[in-house]
Order: sequence, then structure tokens, then C-alpha cells
Amino acid sequence: MPRKASKWGAEHQKRRAKLIARWRPGDPCSRCGFGMFDRDRLQLGHPEPGNGMRSALEHDHCNESAGGVKGALIQGKTIRTKTCPICHVQYKATHKDQIACSREHAAAVKRGDAPWPVSGRPW
Ligand SMILES: [Zn+2]
Ligand SMILES: [Zn+2]
Repeated sequence: MPRKASKWGAEHQKRRAKLIARWRPGDPCSRCGFGMFDRDRLQLGHPEPGNGMRSALEHDHCNESAGGVKGALIQGKTIRTKTCPICHVQYKATHKDQIACSREHAAAVKRGDAPWPVSGRPW
């Protein structure tokens, strides 16, 4: 398949803007199902089995980890399912040193932040 010059094409941007216009705080993420509250952190996912083959809004960290998994699979890497020590979400680790679901939470682990309560995730 030919590589596109940009990861985010014009169509993608247009659809993202349209969905964000309709978004209301607390709408569920298409990937993890938890509410989305921060408008600046909404991403439009690409249609794939992980989100039911629909391009819908999702958390930026959900979007980021899905992208990482796809890249790792292409490179033939082993994917391990782990639980994030900060937010308790199950994530796919794409390299063996990965310690959390996202870069942000890995930084929190390194800072020694306390895990979030299992209920009431702040995103
Ligand atoms: Zn999510
Ligand atoms: Zn996490």
C-alpha cells in the first residue's frame, strides 16, 4: 500500500472537526468506553477492529497506544497485554520496557504518582 504523505489527511481533519462540534463532555471514548471530558485531547481514531471499524472520537492516549501497537505489529514485534499502574487500563505493551499505557502515565510512574482510584477516572 502506498504511504500517504500525511498521517492526518484533509478528510480526517474535516471529520474530526465535525465530530468535535457534536461532542459533549462525558461522551464515551470509542476505544476504552470511558467518558471524554477534555476537548483539547480528543483524537479521531482510524477505523480498525479495536474501535469497531468506525472512525470516532477517542482519548489522545487511547489513539496513541493504538498507533504504537499497529507500528509494532508491522515490525513483527511481540505485543504483551499489561495493566497500567496509574489508570488500571489494560494496554498493549509494544516493547518490554513499557511500564504504562501512555507516555504520560509512564512519566507519572517515574515521578512516583499514586495510582488513580479504580472508579472515577479523571479523563
Ligand atoms: Zn479512551
Ligand atoms: Zn494509564
